[in-house]
Amino acid sequence: MSEPGRTALPEPKLNAVVTLRDEISPWLIILRVAADGWALPDFRPGQFAVIGLPGSAPRGTLALPEEHPSDPDKLIRRAYSIASSSLTRQYMDFYVALVTSGALTPRLFSLQIGDRIWLGPKIAGMFTFDQVPAAESVVMIATGTGLAPYMSMLSTHLMCGGPRRIAVLHGARHSWDLGYRSQLMTLQHLCGNFTYLPTISRPADEPTPWVDAAGYVQDLWTNGALDRSWGFHPTPENTHVFLCGSPAMIDGAVELLGREGFKEQTKKEAGQIHVERYW
Ligand SMILES: Cc1cc2nc3c(=O)[nH]c(=O)nc-3n(C[C@H](O)[C@H](O)[C@H](O)COP(=O)(O)OP(=O)(O)OC[C@H]3O[C@@H](n4cnc5c(N)ncnc54)[C@H](O)[C@@H]3O)c2cc1C
Repeated sequence: MSEPGRTALPEPKLNAVVTLRDEISPWLIILRVAADGWALPDFRPGQFAVIGLPGSAPRGTLALPEEHPSDPDKLIRRAYSIASSSLTRQYMDFYVALVTSGALTPRLFSLQIGDRIWLGPKIAGMFTFDQVPAAESVVMIATGTGLAPYMSMLSTHLMCGGPRRIAVLHGARHSWDLGYRSQLMTLQHLCGNFTYLPTISRPADEPTPWVDAAGYVQDLWTNGALDRSWGFHPTPENTHVFLCGSPAMIDGAVELLGREGFKEQTKKEAGQIHVERYW
């Protein structure tokens, strides 16, 4: 539907295909998308792409009705961090959480293998290793699907057994919301310089007793869990920290790290805190 007196531009055609749909839980999926007849662009680990579906695409069964119904002819587009390796040329993976009241995610959750989707050819984002000196340690802190860019970063930047230490601190509600857990546990087992610290906020819901950490993901920084694994407490002199996911976690972590002398990296100023806000 276009405004009267205005000629609407034709919507871009759905130029990509879903080649895998991995359901982590009813509210979390990994979508694998392959370009159909064009070459995927290069990207740096940590960057994001834009994907989209028309308003006419069906909404999944867990979705709430839309407060403002989407135009069936228009593409609904949103940014998603690329979770797959920058070395993989065949597809891009996206780790997506269902927002039941949202415009796009209920439609993404209805997709099946072979369905068409729009994938923007332009990749963007500054949430990368570009400003991290090669010798410095890296702590990646995420809530929920904020883990996505780290999976891409690890696949490119983790040199197993190498001199750089990398830690992933991942917070979720339940153990079944900890996507990529088995891959991260395997990496930790294989690579002495890699640490994986998951934490859940609702241990009472677990079907079997939860033996790992419980509470906010930032607690893993303050309660010494990371220090015990590394044998030292990270400082701005030896460590860069990445933060990705919910605004509450990011605000809390920036404040906490700021008290220890860490500064946020901006376009104008160098710093050791790198931030990607999802909303
Ligand atoms: C750079 C960037 C990268 C992103 N990467 C990812 C990613 O890898 N995976 C991912 O799932 N999302 C990611 N997002 C968020 C994504 O772009 C959408 O905002 C999200 O999927 C909701 O889209 P929607 O159309 O369903 O909801 P909308 O109709 O756009 O409603 C958005 C509202 O839902 C809430 N919301 C948005 N995201 C969440 C969430 N994850 N959990 C709870 N509430 C939320 C906020 O209140 C927000 O205002 C990213 C956002 C940015 C800016």
